[in-house]
Amino acid sequence: MKCSILTPAVTEIQNQLVLLDAAGPVDGSSASLSPRPLFGLEAEALAACMVGAGEPAWRGRQLAEALYRQRLPEIDEITTLPKLLRQRLAAQGWQVGRPKIVQVFQSADGTERYLVQGQSQGKAQDAAGKIGAAETVETVWMPEGDDGESGDGSDQETPEIPGDHRQQKSSGDQNSPAEGAQKRWQRATICVSSQVGCAVNCQFCLTAKLGLQRNLSAGEIAGQVLSVFERHGVEVGRDRVNLVFMGMGEPFLNYDNFMGAVRLLVRETGLSPQRMTVSTSGIVPGIERLAQEAAEFRPKLAISLNAPNDQVRAEIMPINHKWPIQAVMDAVRQVKLRPRERITFEYVLLGGVTDRPADAVEVARLVRRTGLPAKVNLIAWNPGPGIAYSTPRPEAVEDFRATLAGEGIPTYLRKPRGRDIYAACGQLKRTVEG
Ligand code: SAH
Ligand code: SF4
Repeated sequence: MKCSILTPAVTEIQNQLVLLDAAGPVDGSSASLSPRPLFGLEAEALAACMVGAGEPAWRGRQLAEALYRQRLPEIDEITTLPKLLRQRLAAQGWQVGRPKIVQVFQSADGTERYLVQGQSQGKAQDAAGKIGAAETVETVWMPEGDDGESGDGSDQETPEIPGDHRQQKSSGDQNSPAEGAQKRWQRATICVSSQVGCAVNCQFCLTAKLGLQRNLSAGEIAGQVLSVFERHGVEVGRDRVNLVFMGMGEPFLNYDNFMGAVRLLVRETGLSPQRMTVSTSGIVPGIERLAQEAAEFRPKLAISLNAPNDQVRAEIMPINHKWPIQAVMDAVRQVKLRPRERITFEYVLLGGVTDRPADAVEVARLVRRTGLPAKVNLIAWNPGPGIAYSTPRPEAVEDFRATLAGEGIPTYLRKPRGRDIYAACGQLKRTVEG
């Protein structure tokens, strides 16, 4: 389905207003006391909320500043609002409601995997106090990245700041770095989830084993980013941080919430969409919608190609029956690339299945035929329990890379990050078990 440039933004705001409505009146008359998160609402919806509370609309701007720039976690800390107003909002059930990091897994390589508690209310913990897997979202922090952005035009705008070893902000909880911690990274990539589980059923992916549990809201998607920003003291405009929407789930099967989060992050944190990459298994209507987005909000695009031809692709990615390679490529061609931007094709190397030099020649042909500025990111398959593929031999990986490069295709090998904590590509599933 195609849509006009305006439609998603308007629908989004309407949805948010409906949400406010559904949450009950804000004058306190018959307000329900179930928690009503402010986090995730765009500035217009926050302004409407303030107007509904009998306040001027510009108070909405103050709220947006507090939620998204200052990243304040509690209404009571929003001191730009009068104390009485804060008390009134809290009494009506409003809360900041930003998703929180509830568990941290640290890898020997510096990667961190987080369980982030989402915004669905009321059933977050079971009788034993354990957080339900469907309530948590997985997010990964990769200091120094994984080389996935190499050569795609990400790093043209913000220069590196050498020797920036300022002190981190301090606080006692998981959402803030330890007191006195030094900033030990020069750049970083955050891998963001868009759904809990995934319905696409790629045969090599551990997330697929969960099936689709639920879609994340725009606030839950953007909240992962801001919680990680807070933990690591990230300042947009100063730090080199990239986002990859490559965590759990298929972003284009949760398109409105995914793009809602992107717009929120661009508008309210100032992060450039050129620092964001969305990866899809090839959901053609989603690619077509992305092609219609205004450049000021459109993230870069990565396609999980993963196979040299339709036959192999359909075996490992059943979605290929619905949208074969040609249909995906036709949709990709509708995206108006920015100067120096490239489309990324991701290619998971499955030992003995997709890693032969002849496959590399076929992949090069496919990529050349698109006629687009493109690059290939190779990912050696990360193992997971119950999945009967094997990791490619290191020599096969190198041969594949060299063959593609020899065919004139810019090719990069993604470093596996955080395999020991199940944080690497396709490994996000183990949630609370660790
Ligand atoms: N659903 C989206 C984004 C999340 S998956 C998509 O499929 O594109 C992100 C990337 O991880 C995809 O390129 C996917 O092919 C790859 N991947 C999935 N499982 C993997 C595994 N076990 N090892 C290595 N890469 C994997
Ligand atoms: Fe879903 Fe992506 Fe995993 Fe396929 S690779 S099952 S689309 S998360």
